[in-house]
Amino acid sequence: MENPVICSVCKGACCKASAGHIFPNELEEAVSKSSLTKLIGSDIYSFDWWGDTPFDNRKEATRLYYLRYKHKGNLNLLDNSKDSPCILLTENGCSLSYDKRPDVCKALIPNESFHCTHQTDEFSKTNCAIAWMPYQKIITELLSENNELNKIFE
Ligand code: SF4
Ligand code: SF4
Repeated sequence: MENPVICSVCKGACCKASAGHIFPNELEEAVSKSSLTKLIGSDIYSFDWWGDTPFDNRKEATRLYYLRYKHKGNLNLLDNSKDSPCILLTENGCSLSYDKRPDVCKALIPNESFHCTHQTDEFSKTNCAIAWMPYQKIITELLSENNELNKIFE
């Protein structure tokens, strides 16, 4: 939900706190190695991860990678940085048209206190990471081919 009056005064506290994450079903092309390769070639997306937490009644800790826009100043393909502005934030707000923004961004309910919240956890990071669960093999292959995994495991 957008409220130009409130949001233009706030100037994007939400977008300065972190970049919007993207569920697989929000992408124009079905998820495949080639569609993700094309996306990451645009240099505005990073893979972040949620975990290491047991998911789905599994006992072992699981790191789940998910897609989000890059953070300004943290331009690696694999990035777990926090409290950083979204790369798409400009002085005039988000550079995407409203309908192209991630669901998590559109679902935020503007509030005059600028402490804005979601009505439900439908678009939470946890749910986003779980939605990416079937694509973990493709993502780890891409990260490995781009020499990103060595950076965190070495
Ligand atoms: S949604 Fe809330 S935090 Fe985001 S720009 Fe609007 S008022 Fe600010
Ligand atoms: S995609 Fe747009 S609305 Fe969402 S966090 Fe980035 S700048 Fe803000």
